Amino acid sequence: MTDEGDDVSARLGARGAFPQVPDHWLPHLDRLDRELAAIDPDYQVSQVKETYDGLRFQLPPTLHQAPCCELWLSVNPSPDRQDVPAWKAWCARQGEHEQTIAHERQVADWRARRAAMRDLIAIAERESYTW
Ligand SMILES: [Zn+2]
Repeated sequence: MTDEGDDVSARLGARGAFPQVPDHWLPHLDRLDRELAAIDPDYQVSQVKETYDGLRFQLPPTLHQAPCCELWLSVNPSPDRQDVPAWKAWCARQGEHEQTIAHERQVADWRARRAAMRDLIAIAERESYTW
């Protein structure tokens, strides 16, 4: 295995999934990882493996589509659902957050980046037949 291969294996491992692929795929994964990181430097991956029909490169499902929501939740932890008035008030505040321009911008940005990443992954998965 080349140093480059070790490097991309370690990088993908740190992102969540050590690649389970033939060694000669690693330079291709190195390029894919760099392209994805250019879109989202902190992206995570849940699976990188060889299947009968080629590369399978899966991004994990994400709980929040915008960083602002994680921040909002850290400042506004959800109350006990049994406390109905508090729960309703919290839901209303969350609804207000989701109607802010900042939130809508972040979600639109997140969706655009995610779509661009999915396109790159789809191309790599198709091309993996010829790797
Ligand atoms: Zn938000």
